[in-house]
Amino acid sequence: MTEITVTDIGALRSSFAGEILTSDDGRRYDEARAVFNAMFDRRPGAIARASCDGDVVAAILVAQSARMPMAVRAGGHSVAGYSTIDDGLLLDLRPMAKIELDASARTVRVGPGVTWGQLDAATQIHGLATTGGRMTTTGVAGFVLGSGSGWLERLHGWACDNLLSARLVTADGRVVTTSESENPELFWGLRGGGGNFGVVTEFELRVHPIGPMIYGGMLLYPREQAPELCRNLRDFSAELPREIAVGCVFLTAPPAPFVPPELHGRPAFAVFAAWFGDPAEGPDALSALREFRTPAVDLLAPIPYQQLQALTDAGNPPGRRNYWHSDLFSDLADETIDALVERANTATSPASVMIVARSGGAVADVPEDATPLSGRTAPWFYHCYGIWTEGEDAQHIGWVRETAASLRPWTVTGMPLNFFTDVDDDRVRSTFGEKKYQRLVALKDRYDPENFFRRNQNVRPSAG
Ligand SMILES: Cc1cc2nc3c(=O)[nH]c(=O)nc-3n(C[C@H](O)[C@H](O)[C@H](O)COP(=O)(O)OP(=O)(O)OC[C@H]3O[C@@H](n4cnc5c(N)ncnc54)[C@H](O)[C@@H]3O)c2cc1C
Repeated sequence: MTEITVTDIGALRSSFAGEILTSDDGRRYDEARAVFNAMFDRRPGAIARASCDGDVVAAILVAQSARMPMAVRAGGHSVAGYSTIDDGLLLDLRPMAKIELDASARTVRVGPGVTWGQLDAATQIHGLATTGGRMTTTGVAGFVLGSGSGWLERLHGWACDNLLSARLVTADGRVVTTSESENPELFWGLRGGGGNFGVVTEFELRVHPIGPMIYGGMLLYPREQAPELCRNLRDFSAELPREIAVGCVFLTAPPAPFVPPELHGRPAFAVFAAWFGDPAEGPDALSALREFRTPAVDLLAPIPYQQLQALTDAGNPPGRRNYWHSDLFSDLADETIDALVERANTATSPASVMIVARSGGAVADVPEDATPLSGRTAPWFYHCYGIWTEGEDAQHIGWVRETAASLRPWTVTGMPLNFFTDVDDDRVRSTFGEKKYQRLVALKDRYDPENFFRRNQNVRPSAG
């Protein structure tokens, strides 16, 4: 592969309807190349902002014929930095942001440039939603293709379980439609196999009656109470109705007006919960969490579903350095909780967080072979997010890696790959498991034998 040239950009301009930006475009180029994770400050040779399927075809064909590397960007939230590139072509899908809701059929067609905040806004007017990201700025596209874990997953499965059909452009520039009945093997691969097989230009998703008001929010405590609160959370979750989403966060208390001043900047522990049944029944459904110990802050209340979806937006802005690792737990034993607390207490940055959440329910209903993803029956998962703006990268990355190593004895494989900054071949293989990995390789051989789409959680074609 070679770097992009003036001739390549000229070739692209002749067949591309959307905007094309280069470093000559100054601030607009800089805005367009910025991604969520500031560790990836890349300078693409050109940014092609696709406006339609034809633009996606044109970008792929020009990049292929010029043998130039290409990255695909939707919401730009890849913590592994897949959605940007130095020197090559960045295909930016953000202008393709249509949303067509069929409220009576409970389906929605979504362009690849749409974020979860935009999609929720369009569907919530009709009291509908599907499992979406826990932050409004995350893109629908990368999220769905990589699994899609959200507040609604215990009730309605992962986002990829709600995918009904997709249209994509393959490495040879063909537009292919895929669903359970049309190109079903490709459809199987798209539900967790990431961006390996082409550029998806439309997702059709199932939506469900949700909200617009739900009951939920957060309870905040001093960190010292974390061991007993974690145990209570585990016991509360043993027999959990699907209408409840629950988890906890080890964080540093923000200097927000709703936080008592004595907690500002101090290690804290938050329990988050949502009840998707009748909001009037919410206080009863969550009382065992609220009444266990008196919280310093009690934000459990009837709230709009969109507010729940935005709960962590303010605490996790773009532009900081991020290094992430996650894993699944088969249970939450006392010794696992003690290890979590110990690791959280050694965090090297006040912005870093550890999250533990309950999965299961509808996620576990989907048969193991129905999608490439495994690990569906694991009831708990954790995220260790190293997030910083100051200090040496090595120190903060080291904390995440040491945390992963010390929690490993209690983990099981299968955590979806969207939650890792480091994804090597071994992780891709072991996450899918050898049998399903080989099924993905067969798809890769068929749709992308030269591995043109490789800035992703890469499935390598047999030819290497
Ligand atoms: C702040 C934050 C919060 C998050 N919260 C959650 C969460 O609650 N649940 C969860 O499951 N995940 C979450 N994630 C992880 C998230 O799902 C992934 O980072 C996902 O890739 C984001 O999608 P995107 O469209 O923004 O990605 P992008 O960075 O735009 O794309 C990532 C990669 O996905 C592939 N891709 C994207 N669009 C297409 C397309 N149209 N066709 C083919 N391939 C494509 C490409 O390989 C691309 O490089 C979060 C990430 C961040 C940074």
